[in-house]
Amino acid sequence: MRHPATAPMGHNQHVWSRAPARARAASSHRAHLDASSRAALGVWAPVAFAGAAGLVVAVASLATDNLGWRDGAGIALLIAAATLAEAFPVPIEGVAVGSTSLATIFLVAGATIYGWAAAAVAGFLAMAFVELGRRRPVSRVAFNCGVYVLAGIAAGGAAAGSQDGSLLGLAVGAIAAAVAFYLVDITLLAAVVTRSRGVAFPPALRNYVQLTFVPFAVMASLAVILVVLWDRSPFVALTLVGPLVATALYQRWIHRALNRLRAFDRLKDEFIAIVSHELRTPLTSVYGAAMTLERHALDPERQRAMLEIISTEAARLSRLLDDILWVSRLDSGRARPFITRVEPLPLAADVVDATRTHLPHGLSLDLVHDDPAPLEVAADADKLRQVLVNLIENAVKYSDEGRIEVRLGRRDGRVRFSVRDQGPGIPAIQQERIFEKFFRLDPNMTQGVGGTGLGLYICRELVGSMHGEIWVESIPGEGSTFAFELPVAQTP
Ligand code: ADP
Repeated sequence: MRHPATAPMGHNQHVWSRAPARARAASSHRAHLDASSRAALGVWAPVAFAGAAGLVVAVASLATDNLGWRDGAGIALLIAAATLAEAFPVPIEGVAVGSTSLATIFLVAGATIYGWAAAAVAGFLAMAFVELGRRRPVSRVAFNCGVYVLAGIAAGGAAAGSQDGSLLGLAVGAIAAAVAFYLVDITLLAAVVTRSRGVAFPPALRNYVQLTFVPFAVMASLAVILVVLWDRSPFVALTLVGPLVATALYQRWIHRALNRLRAFDRLKDEFIAIVSHELRTPLTSVYGAAMTLERHALDPERQRAMLEIISTEAARLSRLLDDILWVSRLDSGRARPFITRVEPLPLAADVVDATRTHLPHGLSLDLVHDDPAPLEVAADADKLRQVLVNLIENAVKYSDEGRIEVRLGRRDGRVRFSVRDQGPGIPAIQQERIFEKFFRLDPNMTQGVGGTGLGLYICRELVGSMHGEIWVESIPGEGSTFAFELPVAQTP
């Protein structure tokens, strides 16, 4: 069994492989032991040694057993099934978040039907194929193979004790085998994890049993069904393949869907935090300026300064609410564009003129166009305006000084709009990500520039909905050019 991620243990999870960086390092120095492997040496080395000894005895026992071809084929089939199950663990939702290998079912069935030696060899091969295929560190491969060999031997021994040739005896044998397999597996895994972390064994074992008991019970019942069917005919047992694969795929699908929901939930929390902050900042400024105007007799110049604060911050609030409304419309599919013929030049000139009214000192804003002037575009005027507003406002917001150039030009049946600034620029590695919802280069506002991370997401969605494309070219320290292209309107 591969145990849930919430439990700090499991074939796939113990100390050797938890952190990806560490796993990579381990695989490049596979013969060396890292600190946690050294700490757990007292557990994993004896387990590996006992497993190796058990394996040798099991192979010798199988060799002297003179297995017929039917038994040989049956064991080979169970090994193949256990290997596949080990290679594709199933995430079990609702029990605990994590993944569980269904290999236990086939190994327990093998132990009940073909005895301890077959189960030990099958467990070893299934684990060795998968772990070596994944290029795991030597210590880990040795321990995990040892666990499966010992668990297989225990399962075979338990099953043999309770079988009397009847169907009931077979079922009881399978249950006993499952319990034995589970106990050996979980005890050894708990031992290695607690040893490597230096924590107490009994409470850790109790915790792991609580987390893994339900998937174990499900697998034990499946093992009983498999054994009973197999006893009738291995061909009939094949009917289990369909439901098992379907259940595994369904569980994976549920797990992915729930992960998406969890990610979305996290984004929502983040969104609420960002929006509350972004709402509070301008509101505080407006409130402060209004109070100052109300309570103090100010000279005309200071009055004008206070009124300017109020209008600038009110505009910021209105942009923020606009962004939120756009995102809500986009996410609920209510932002379908109404495409008409739009004259791009007057529309861009409007946006540029409106921005000039509140352009900070040190910045200049120009609108230029290639010759001949661009043709009409097939676009939704409101959406096109919103994209230009967002890009130009960003250029203003992120540049302290310099020139901002808005350019319109023709490009093979399309019209290109670009906004170039001489601001801080955007590192190449982040250039894709800035179009994601809520993504900000400076989320903690160390540069003092606020924002929700929604503007470029809205631009990308709106441009996409008008059959266009948007991108950025930028050199950190020199500036950025945001550009998008829309199709030229067809001649009527
Ligand atoms: P917001 O500006 O509200 O944070 P946007 O989606 O408009 O959200 O932009 C996302 C991020 O992209 C910004 O936080 C900023 O880091 C970066 N960015 C956008 N435009 C520019 C620009 N012109 N220059 C530098 N960085 C920019």
